[in-house]
Amino acid sequence: MSENDAVEGLRQVQESIQRSASDYGRDPASITLVAVSKTFPADAIAPVLAAGQRIFGENYVQEAKVKWPALRESYPDVELHMIGPLQSNKAKEAVELFDVIHTLDRPSLAEALAKEIAKQGKKPRLLVQVNTGEEPQKGGVIPAEVDAFLEACRTRYGLEVEGLMCIPPAEDPPSPHFALLNTIAKRNGLNVLSMGMSADFDAAIQLGATHVRVGSAIFGARPRHSSR
Ligand SMILES: *Cc1c(COP(=O)(O)O)cnc(C)c1O
Repeated sequence: MSENDAVEGLRQVQESIQRSASDYGRDPASITLVAVSKTFPADAIAPVLAAGQRIFGENYVQEAKVKWPALRESYPDVELHMIGPLQSNKAKEAVELFDVIHTLDRPSLAEALAKEIAKQGKKPRLLVQVNTGEEPQKGGVIPAEVDAFLEACRTRYGLEVEGLMCIPPAEDPPSPHFALLNTIAKRNGLNVLSMGMSADFDAAIQLGATHVRVGSAIFGARPRHSSR
């Protein structure tokens, strides 16, 4: 995909979000597009930045550390979202690098993040990942344990959690998972819902997404081995 294709992809995704918002009677300003740039080099990201997009998602701390410091010098108002699985021993770098972390999903990570937040005096916004499909290979808190985990984040680790994130199982229709995430968020008084990717962000917007994470519809297909 050429650079212009990514800018064209960005425009199309922006238009689709507007259309979905209008279809479902939602304020388009309540839906944030997180452009997922994982696996794409700085050269591929630069035109999308130049076109005005400022919010990006990355899956790997190491990769983000290589790409983003230089891009940020040119675009200091970039907002970087961590959307991939996070190892506790990467908490330090994650707190240094990211403005939002979507993948808080266990006590050991909550503890590591709380420690770094106190140490660095920098406070990324936090979302708890929910494993709505209860898939063993996937990160996230299972639905039955989310309320207790949120409570532990608050009282035990002193972390303010803004919302929830999910990645539905690839083989399922996504809507029931989005609806479940919405229900869990509502009963916990959370307003931020990170759900919906290239293939299903329309359904996610229908069901209340505030953040859609869109990669391939903007940047094109990723090499297969690194598609997660
Ligand atoms: C890769 C990824 C995305 C983007 O997926 P696309 O299908 O390319 O839009 C969104 N969320 C997470 C957690 C991802 O890993």
